[in-house]
Amino acid sequence: MIPFNAPPVVGTEIEYMQAAMGSGKLCGDGGFTRRCQQWMEHRFGCKKVLLTPSCTASLEMAALLLNIQPGDEVIMPSYTFVSTANAFVLRGAKVVFVDIRPDTMNIDEKLIEAAITEKTRAIVPVHYAGVACEMDTIMAIANKHNLFVVEDAAQGVMSTYKGRALGTIGHIGCFSFHETKNYTAGGEGGATLINDPSLIERAEIIREKGTNRSQFFRGQVDKYTWRDIGSSYLMADLQAAYLWAQLEAAEKINQQRLKLWHAYYDALTPLAKAGRIELPSIPKDCVQNAHMFYIKLRDIDDRSALISWLKEAEILAVFHYIPLHDCPAGEKFGYFHGEDHFTTQESERLLRLPLFYNLSPANQRTVINTLLSFFS
Ligand SMILES: *Cc1c(COP(=O)(O)O)cnc(C)c1O
Repeated sequence: MIPFNAPPVVGTEIEYMQAAMGSGKLCGDGGFTRRCQQWMEHRFGCKKVLLTPSCTASLEMAALLLNIQPGDEVIMPSYTFVSTANAFVLRGAKVVFVDIRPDTMNIDEKLIEAAITEKTRAIVPVHYAGVACEMDTIMAIANKHNLFVVEDAAQGVMSTYKGRALGTIGHIGCFSFHETKNYTAGGEGGATLINDPSLIERAEIIREKGTNRSQFFRGQVDKYTWRDIGSSYLMADLQAAYLWAQLEAAEKINQQRLKLWHAYYDALTPLAKAGRIELPSIPKDCVQNAHMFYIKLRDIDDRSALISWLKEAEILAVFHYIPLHDCPAGEKFGYFHGEDHFTTQESERLLRLPLFYNLSPANQRTVINTLLSFFS
């Protein structure tokens, strides 16, 4: 069986996890957490990176940090993971879904401004497949209307837009280190990137159960107390140890994923030229991280047939998001602004192929050959 995904393993994880176990400190904000945070701050050019239990937690932190209140509106694509919406719905916000661009599956930046009302507080672009949204346009709209931008960069670690790392362009960025993402913190994990310096102090407080414990540990205050609302958004240091192994090998993992991505792209280009499938397109300002390789079939029936064909050959290929505005909770907590030209149609055509760090070239060849045989 060729799985759709396997968690990345580089080999040094066990050594670092043992070191964490021997350090006498397994809770959050230990040595490995500090190393991971500093590495990311340096590598991505970010003012403050805070490890969290998940990207879901990071998005929730962002909603708390921006003081999202009942009745506020938050603009995002409908074609995304539930956590993008839940984080804001938990604060009582209404989610306003905007259509996507068919070329990148990202929010159509040209449709955002028309969806803004006096209740709008934030825009949440999702960098689908690690390919950047049109951030210059989105930031200009946000500045003009005095809105916050929270980048859901769950899939975008190591990708850039005009040379800037995804997650560092909006006021806040959110990474995922879930096992399905490019780098993992032993299964689950995330990071909150604070790019607006005025948000840093409160971000630390919210993450530490509403206390100024981070300042206390740095010796900036002589006792710590309850300051604000908050929760526990720390990652265990044992997990950070796993993540550290992955970050040390980040370049290698990235190159390997890109190699697999291009092998699919090259092998499937004849099918695309013959008009049988569509391949992903990467806008010229974007450097991607090969988070995902997807193809688009003619329609949902074609896709179902191909999924079955692959399954018959013991290959797991999977589709993705059921648009949120079509889900029971999406109807309850949000609405679709404008026309759904592409969200539903394109989501029904899209199929993701196995792509993970430890995918062997032989297994990838099998996937490619099985796919080609479907079309011949
Ligand atoms: C994976 C993902 C999330 C959630 O990440 P977790 O770390 O599992 O909470 C959120 N948004 C997007 C776009 C994702 O792909």
